Amino acid sequence: MAIETAILDKIKAAQTIIIHRHQRPDPDCIGAQLALRDILQASFPDKTVLAVGKHYPGFDWMGQADQDVADETYKDALVIVVDTANQPRVDGERWQTGKSVVKIDHHPNDDAFGDLQWVLDQASSTSEIIYDWFAVNAADLTMPDNAARLLYAGIVGDTGRFMYPATSANTLAVAGKLLTYDFSATAVNQAEDEITPALARLSAYLYQNLEILPSGAAFLKLTDEIVESFGLAAKDSTSAIVPLPGKITTVVAWAIFVEAKDHTFRIRLRSKGPSINELAKNHGGGGHALASGATAHDQAEIDQVIHELDELVANDKGENE
Ligand code: AMP
Repeated sequence: MAIETAILDKIKAAQTIIIHRHQRPDPDCIGAQLALRDILQASFPDKTVLAVGKHYPGFDWMGQADQDVADETYKDALVIVVDTANQPRVDGERWQTGKSVVKIDHHPNDDAFGDLQWVLDQASSTSEIIYDWFAVNAADLTMPDNAARLLYAGIVGDTGRFMYPATSANTLAVAGKLLTYDFSATAVNQAEDEITPALARLSAYLYQNLEILPSGAAFLKLTDEIVESFGLAAKDSTSAIVPLPGKITTVVAWAIFVEAKDHTFRIRLRSKGPSINELAKNHGGGGHALASGATAHDQAEIDQVIHELDELVANDKGENE
């Protein structure tokens, strides 16, 4: 049986469906999650369909997760985890307490959890996968306009507005179909593109202070002190500046080290050339070939990551071209 049908059958058999996402969400994971909730609520009005996850006000334009879901609700529930490669990254502890688990994702399947998995690591985004799932099962499903808006937002988010290499002919075809629904793509594009004045100033800081090595490896360290000096409240809101080094012609791959509450450094790795996910795995993280994350525990590990990145770029054989 095709996986798309198997997932639909599991949904049909469940009275309660609870959709989880990853910690520190992005537009793709929220878009895929809330769109799936909208599709299932519209298609199966007699079922209870919930989406859970920590509230981040910066994403209120996309919608809200359901808060106050009782433990008993999980008892016979089907749990669907979207856009989350590894079990420790699932937002919320109770996802394993449901009756069964389905994983839908587009990251490398390093941690193959769940009773059913649908993982397409070549897909641009989990939102694109959710649309494809809807299209295969369109006879049984309804797509509300808001779900189309959310899926479009997810695709725009994970492709850097159709710029990153995972953007395929299918990605653009899906985006085209989504635009036939009634929502403002301009409003979505603007919501994802705009930055606050504080972030604009931090962007200027990044361009002024980014160190670019002769190999094309580049890095920037953002301590608490620096981030706070720009009047930024939450460190997570530095996400918007992570792609910026990629605009520089001489930069091939880069690392941004952002100090965490416990004074370790969250490493945000990006590449236009060599795969950087193995490097990320060496430092307790992982991710996609060209976008990964990890943790550096001290300055020595930061130096080590910079060294490994430098070597990786210097020895790049053009595997991702
Ligand atoms: P970020 O820089 O946080 O936007 O992360 C980029 C990508 O790397 C995401 O799509 C995640 O899949 C992955 N990633 C980030 N941090 C981790 C981590 N600690 N462990 C595994 N994967 C990660």
